Amino acid sequence: MKPKVNKDICIGCGACQAIAEKVFEVGNDGLAEAIVDVVPEEEKENAIDAKESCPTGAISIE
Ligand code: SF4
Repeated sequence: MKPKVNKDICIGCGACQAIAEKVFEVGNDGLAEAIVDVVPEEEKENAIDAKESCPTGAISIE
């Protein structure tokens, strides 16, 4: 699973970081980014929760 954030539609709400802090982080630009290339096994559920909780649908997980 490869997590990705589309910064063009991220609003920097921080929900993804709150749910999956080992996968997503809000950076200095105020927008989220994926901090891992591949989601660790134990973080898969959190990563999917974060994707589903993103208010703008900015997260994709391939
Ligand atoms: S939940 Fe979505 S809109 Fe909010 S910071 Fe994360 S990627 Fe951006």
